[in-house]
Amino acid sequence: MRNTVQEKHLFQKCYDYTRADDVKARGVYPWFTPIQGSEGPIVFMNGREIVMAGSNNYLGLTTHPKVKEATINALNKFGSSCSGSRYLTGTIDMHIELEERLAKFVGKESALLFTTGYMTGQGVIQPLVGRGDSILSDKDNHASIVTGNLIARGGMNVNVVRYKHNDVEDLERRLKQIESGGKLIVTDGVFSTFGNIAHLDKITQLANQYNAQIVVDDAHAFGVIGQGGRGTASKFGITDQVDLVVCTFSKTLASIGGFVAGEERVMNYLKHHSPALIFAASPTPAAVAAALAALDILEDQPELVGQLARNAQKVRTGLIDLGFNVIPGETAIVPVIIGDDEKAFQLWKGLFDAGIFVNVFIPPANPPGKAMMRNSFMASHNDDHLDFVIETYKKVGRQIGIIS
Ligand code: PMP
Repeated sequence: MRNTVQEKHLFQKCYDYTRADDVKARGVYPWFTPIQGSEGPIVFMNGREIVMAGSNNYLGLTTHPKVKEATINALNKFGSSCSGSRYLTGTIDMHIELEERLAKFVGKESALLFTTGYMTGQGVIQPLVGRGDSILSDKDNHASIVTGNLIARGGMNVNVVRYKHNDVEDLERRLKQIESGGKLIVTDGVFSTFGNIAHLDKITQLANQYNAQIVVDDAHAFGVIGQGGRGTASKFGITDQVDLVVCTFSKTLASIGGFVAGEERVMNYLKHHSPALIFAASPTPAAVAAALAALDILEDQPELVGQLARNAQKVRTGLIDLGFNVIPGETAIVPVIIGDDEKAFQLWKGLFDAGIFVNVFIPPANPPGKAMMRNSFMASHNDDHLDFVIETYKKVGRQIGIIS
């Protein structure tokens, strides 16, 4: 006799999933909108010019002539792909050059590249912990870290403890409960949704006190905070206290890929033990060249970091003055809490129709009742772009009754 378990069709949930179709039918679906061309702060969508206010292209370097030129030169010299892992055919001289440059920039002995930022988080966590060890991970950490934690827990029976968001008292309470084994504290430096900064000064003190090692994901901090954009540890003046910095190229570095930086012996171990590195093709020559060129520009023009902060702050203040529920901060991310999903979709549509693209986050990405617009700014936005964003928020926000 066939039982009900055998009759379960795994794809049934896909056939039954209609939420996205419902939102599309109402004409307010805000995701997967194709970009038909980009000039950085201005992109083309639906055949129109749109002010991009949702990109992580923080210094606006994806369209910088030097970045484009370096990309084209690398393509001409090496072709489009390395077609292999770093271990085998996938190491070119530019991978090594970029590793050396990044290590130096963030004040570490050595660095190691991965093919995406997402693979970097999981690729670093998994090999460093084993049976009997514990990972202490902030509840709001990025999904790449969550994935790394899950692999470590599933594969090696590692004890994964999620502490309350940016709550050092809870972290300490959890550290005290761990009786044996190694301890790895993992936190985003700048949290990707709300743009707030980890209390890294206090977290490093706890790490010292409880003999734990620390990994900081600086995806949204690199090029944004710290001296010349050197990230979260630099902002607190504690570069030597953070064991490992992980970061992506897809934001400030105008490319795709990721890196970890730390002690040379640790990089050497990861190189020979991280499946995400060993079993994946290396970043393409063009991607590495773009990141190298972006790093050149960041080093040559550290004033871009200040420009980015000013741009984000201008909109932050403008929206607060209008009465929007803005989460205060000092990074490139300007979150506006709307609350109701439907209102958030309407605001998105109103902004988009007027010529602005922002990101909409709804539960489960956010807590229930906390639908929000995640605005993010670039050093290359000019005052006209930013004034247009503020004015349009005012007009649409009033039209749909979010502000008075
Ligand atoms: N870490 C954080 C904190 C991120 O926000 C992201 C991407 N949004 C990643 C890692 C993954 O980077 P990538 O998208 O470049 O793979």
